[in-house]
Amino acid sequence: MSYFSGVTRRKFLATAGLSAAGSVFLKGCLGNPPSQMTATTTPTTPAVAPGPVAAGDAPETPTVKLGYLPIVESVPLIIAQEKGFFAKYGMTGVEVSKQASWAAARDNVTIGSAGGGIDGGQWQMPMPHLLSEGIITDGKKVPMYVLAMLNTQGNGIAIANAHAGKGFGLDVSGAADYIKGFSASQGRKFKASFTFPNANQDFWIRYWFAAGGIDPDSDIELLTVPAAETVQGLRNGTMDAFSTGDPWPIRILTDKIGFLGALTHQMWGFHPEEYLAVRADWVDANPKATKALLKGVMEAQQWADKPENRAEIVQIVAGRNYFNIPPEVLTNPFKGDYIMGDGKADVTGFDSGPLYWKDPKGSVSYPYKSHDLWFLTESMRWGFHKDKINDFDTVKRIIDSVNREDLWREAATEAGFTADIPSDTSRGIETFFDGIKFDPANPEAYLSSLKIKRV
Ligand code: CA
Repeated sequence: MSYFSGVTRRKFLATAGLSAAGSVFLKGCLGNPPSQMTATTTPTTPAVAPGPVAAGDAPETPTVKLGYLPIVESVPLIIAQEKGFFAKYGMTGVEVSKQASWAAARDNVTIGSAGGGIDGGQWQMPMPHLLSEGIITDGKKVPMYVLAMLNTQGNGIAIANAHAGKGFGLDVSGAADYIKGFSASQGRKFKASFTFPNANQDFWIRYWFAAGGIDPDSDIELLTVPAAETVQGLRNGTMDAFSTGDPWPIRILTDKIGFLGALTHQMWGFHPEEYLAVRADWVDANPKATKALLKGVMEAQQWADKPENRAEIVQIVAGRNYFNIPPEVLTNPFKGDYIMGDGKADVTGFDSGPLYWKDPKGSVSYPYKSHDLWFLTESMRWGFHKDKINDFDTVKRIIDSVNREDLWREAATEAGFTADIPSDTSRGIETFFDGIKFDPANPEAYLSSLKIKRV
């Protein structure tokens, strides 16, 4: 472990010292508590010996720097690194780098690894599309390619204990009057948070509230707050709800700070969650390395979906070089077991938690274009970026320039995972817990069917 940390630290400092931009990276790092630090991790002993890579398939470079956030979504990247799946395909110089926040990941990919940042990594959606269009980077376009989905499920909405017994279930309509009356009774609106605006956790909590007849733009206050501050807020009563990924929901439960209102698994079974996306200039310059990277991630995802490997995942990712948390808080989510609290029945079963390679609806890893379409349609629903994303011609143009499912197919074919390659870029009609349907062939009908919206 100490050798490991020493190597990590030395390598990180060497990278950060390369340029002025690197010092921005370092500054962001030092401004955070240890658990939030940006740290780079290189592999220990690969569990899989580097495999034979045919001469023509040798990657243009063995090196790439991928960012991650310490939540279950990052497992395929960490496992590909630690179990030697990247190395097996010739990617012997991958660095997986903990990001202090989503905003830090955005800033680091904008400067790229040459500037001390990252080449790509783990993203909420549709961050790759927003980066590509310059929407979250002050107009600077950072073209990105979506290469794979990392996981499904593994997210939930936590509610502070102060609101127990008020009707916070999957159908939250029972709590609507309580929430809407909050201003009168408490002198402030009901406050809910997520860690980055206009992306997954924002979408999940908005969908949930709106399905219960609560307008997330007027009936409550929605805020972007760092995870640790949100947990503190739930504890001291200044925050009421938190939309986030495992292990945060379970930690809130086990620390007796709150209970779970709903799991995303209950809201939309086997929904798209977070993705692997890399800068387009890196992919265009390194097409073979891109596919090698993808093969390593795919093999890690297959490994991670074997129930007998989940205990080892917990041991690896809980370590101080990765999540730096007690392993116990990860055990239940990786079994698909969730204590909901507030008198609600527990949710159990492997298929309730995070899945990485396949699920009952199809591929988890393959980046269906129909899911990109849902994220951008939902962006239109809430009026996000409405000067830039306001019609389906634009949406389709953005998806076709960012989603590289073709590279996923090529990599899967070359690696021999042919049985698991979907036949279509659409997963077909999606059904939400409130009966609403999203038909990717007719997203306008989905928008029309929604009662609370900004379009
Ligand atoms: Ca997430």
